[in-house]
Amino acid sequence: MPATHRKLLAANWKMHLSLQEAQELTSEVVQTYQTEIAAPLPLVLCVPFPYLSHVLHLTKGEPFVAVGAQNVHHKAEGAYTGEVSAQMLRSVGTQYAVVGHSERRQYFGETPQQIADKIALLLEHRIRPIFCLGETLEEREAGQTIAVLTTQLEGSLAGFTAEQMAQIVVAYEPVWAIGTGRTASPEQAQEVHAALRAQLTAHFGDDVAQATPILYGGSLKADNAAGLFAQPDIDGGLVGGASLHTRSFIIIAKALATYAH
Ligand code: PEP
Repeated sequence: MPATHRKLLAANWKMHLSLQEAQELTSEVVQTYQTEIAAPLPLVLCVPFPYLSHVLHLTKGEPFVAVGAQNVHHKAEGAYTGEVSAQMLRSVGTQYAVVGHSERRQYFGETPQQIADKIALLLEHRIRPIFCLGETLEEREAGQTIAVLTTQLEGSLAGFTAEQMAQIVVAYEPVWAIGTGRTASPEQAQEVHAALRAQLTAHFGDDVAQATPILYGGSLKADNAAGLFAQPDIDGGLVGGASLHTRSFIIIAKALATYAH
């Protein structure tokens, strides 16, 4: 698999957009990226399953635009009606997949072990996992943020080798900031990112920890991206709502491109 770029921006379209809207957005993002972003900043569009092939086709040959899924099943194959396997994702050319998003943990009961199994299958099929973790508001207010994140990180990543970890992207997404318009301050996010990097160092060594992109997600917008990206341990973003509009997504990408080289 290609070497890790520590700076990276991922879009999470969630369950939005028609196929036509998805194609228009992809074409606009690619075109605007080419004309407005000079730095080699990897962008990953995490799109609904039915659009993977279309978006892959529209981004073909773009060295810095990759395509990701928003989920994958935790079993390799079998009688799991309605599910999508890592092998299927790979067979259409998918390069990344989100795992452990708080919406999936909360609404679909995704467990740390299932997340670990998903990551293992993705790695086996040379797809880079974007591993999400984050605390709820109650946990933050109870002073449990780092303890909760440690449990989530160890619960899903502890079984992997340093070589495997080198292919994994981490996304810190405080649950209280997702889709709420409430963003972690740059200082709040930096504190958590530094703690996560220290944990990666303890488990996988400094080289891997330093190379791992640790993204911030949660109401990341055009007007707050620059402050967050100025922090030393915030390597990019996982963007929900603001990734559905070319202009806001590109403004966020430009803010990050300042640090990409
Ligand atoms: C997300 O769900 O990954 C996310 C960060 O959403 P939003 O940007 O809309 O808060």
